[in-house]
Amino acid sequence: MPLTNTLPTADLQALDAAHHMHPFTANGALAEKGARIITRADGVRLTDSEGVELIDGMAGLWCVNIGYGRHELAEAAARQMRELPFYNTFFQTSHVPAITLAAKLAELAPDNLNHVFFAGSGSEANDTNIRLVRQYWALKGQPERRTIIARRNAYHGSTMGGGSLGGMAAMHAQGGMPIPGIVHIDQPYWWGEGGDTTPEAFGLERAGQLEAKILELGPENVAAFIAEPVQGAGGVIIPPESYWPEVQRIVDQYGILLIADEVITGFGRLGHWFGSQSYGIRPHIMTVAKGLSSGYQPIGGSIVCDEVAQVVAQDEFNHGYTYSGHPVAAAVALENLRILAEERIVDRVRETTAPYLAQAWSSLSDHPLVGEAVSRGLMASLALTPDKASRAGFAMEPGTAGYICREYCFANNLVMRHVGDRMIIAPPLVITNVDIDMLIDRARRALDQTL
Ligand code: PLP
Repeated sequence: MPLTNTLPTADLQALDAAHHMHPFTANGALAEKGARIITRADGVRLTDSEGVELIDGMAGLWCVNIGYGRHELAEAAARQMRELPFYNTFFQTSHVPAITLAAKLAELAPDNLNHVFFAGSGSEANDTNIRLVRQYWALKGQPERRTIIARRNAYHGSTMGGGSLGGMAAMHAQGGMPIPGIVHIDQPYWWGEGGDTTPEAFGLERAGQLEAKILELGPENVAAFIAEPVQGAGGVIIPPESYWPEVQRIVDQYGILLIADEVITGFGRLGHWFGSQSYGIRPHIMTVAKGLSSGYQPIGGSIVCDEVAQVVAQDEFNHGYTYSGHPVAAAVALENLRILAEERIVDRVRETTAPYLAQAWSSLSDHPLVGEAVSRGLMASLALTPDKASRAGFAMEPGTAGYICREYCFANNLVMRHVGDRMIIAPPLVITNVDIDMLIDRARRALDQTL
């Protein structure tokens, strides 16, 4: 069947409804309404099948860091497809794109994170991490260290492993998650859960839950703690400044492995190559995906410290994916990293765009529906509330106000997501100040219409 992009929108929507099961979607309801069909994109703008342009406030799905339409990546993919479209790295072979990308990531990653296990996505990489940390402790002669501590409302992917590490109640309710050996503590969500405490005290209190959980389980049973430097899919929850230093103290004290899930925060989103650098976190493993290739190809991986990699290397690690280190994806990722570095895109986020967004975004806090308007790097969120003082929820079903606001954003040709009643953005890192102003104008219009 040839690509159907010459069909009218209604026909495409009908085919979509008839045959395509969308992820994280009530497909019945979408079929009634019809999906908006995106046909092209350039820079920070999408074009739909009716020729209407939208500002993509979500960089696709937190991933198109260098923006759309970079032909260099298409050329890198075509070159690699002609030369070596696929080969595996399982059975005593390797290939140039995987070798070069692993070495490049070792160069970019902080400290002693020098080894890369490739996967096809962030979910797969987090599944790898479960296996890696348990294998590490088993080889160290401490096989009882199996439990991984994670956080409620975290997102670490949608496979059984990734979904179990994640703390999304709606996901756990479907399909038998979490799998055994994964437990959750609370998130450092000050605005929503901090009550009368100061952010600093609340950050310490929530980090303290990690210590309490380690002591409850017995440190000798705990393999690792996993967390996103800034929770993304949970609603862009920016932790109080006190949180990460205290978490670092605790994992150091009890000798627990620290996994930083950098799937969103990696590759410039917070103004450094990795979110861990932005918060002074020293992880043993970083999960990466998304911005690694700016989403132009599916690729993820675990960047692993010397100590863990050397121990795991003592035995065969019975784990891997057909597409681990896929040569085309690796070639595209390398080209993406070249552009991020040569065009100083990460530096520009830190020096210019993030400070501009912080100031422009916070202007939304005067809106009657907005309880807090916060950002870190190029991730930002609004908490919607009918009563700023009490931070109350809406009388209607939770999430409905966010859903309505998201629909108005869409109608105003802005892609902004909602998570419950939090509105979130994470635009391409190449967004300009002029486009930030336009994005915020459209967001304000949608908020007005939501009232
Ligand atoms: N980890 C984090 C922090 C994520 O945000 C995501 C996806 O949004 C994942 C893991 C899963 O990545 P993927 O969707 O590539 O499997």
